[in-house]
Amino acid sequence: MSVEVTGREAEGTRWDLVVIGSGTAGADAAVRAAQLGLKVLLIERNRDRPGGTCVNVGCVPTKKLLYLADHYHELSKYLVNEGLITDAKLDVKAMFRAKDQLISQIIAWYTFRVFPSWGIKMLFGEARLASPNSVKVGDSVIEAKNVLIATGSRPKVPPIRGGVEEGLRRGGLRYN
Ligand SMILES: Cc1cc2nc3c(=O)[nH]c(=O)nc-3n(C[C@H](O)[C@H](O)[C@H](O)COP(=O)(O)OP(=O)(O)OC[C@H]3O[C@@H](n4cnc5c(N)ncnc54)[C@H](O)[C@@H]3O)c2cc1C
Repeated sequence: MSVEVTGREAEGTRWDLVVIGSGTAGADAAVRAAQLGLKVLLIERNRDRPGGTCVNVGCVPTKKLLYLADHYHELSKYLVNEGLITDAKLDVKAMFRAKDQLISQIIAWYTFRVFPSWGIKMLFGEARLASPNSVKVGDSVIEAKNVLIATGSRPKVPPIRGGVEEGLRRGGLRYN
């Protein structure tokens, strides 16, 4: 049974909970609500990178790269000191492949194991709140008893004179 539904299919269901955003907050809330027996729809605008910041560009990739770099450093230092090798070359491309593979595994684990096992459905598209109990995605209006907005956040730097924001603006740059 596929986890993905179309906008039309989503319109035909009365959802207990519609969650906007499949990041850490949205995915965890969706799973917990489904475990408590609610009928849950999870909407994500980024089809290529569901899972939000943590999985794709935050906690997971940074820790994987740090873990590999740390092991490379410790192991190569030890082996060189023991005279077992004279040189240990780091394959940075392989490191990034390992990082990408871990991300894919986590996304697949959620999409093919966790969400289906709790009956959670996913709809891909940009969601807009149409009313307190309905969400618009494209032409579809999806009704829900509850809507959770879990769309993440962006940094906001206060306008401090000489601060980072001003420096970026002067340099013709901006956040994200
Ligand atoms: C480099 C880095 C390292 C980090 N390391 C750690 C760590 O080690 N430990 C830790 O606890 N935290 C860490 N964080 C912080 C952590 O990643 C965030 O706190 C967490 O991802 C926030 O989750 P979220 O669900 O609130 O938002 P997000 O993960 O940003 O998810 C929001 C989702 O909503 C979707 N979305 C937005 N608008 C719409 C819309 N209109 N319709 C449909 N979908 C929409 C987005 O596409 C996205 O998938 C790190 C962050 C960074 C940047």
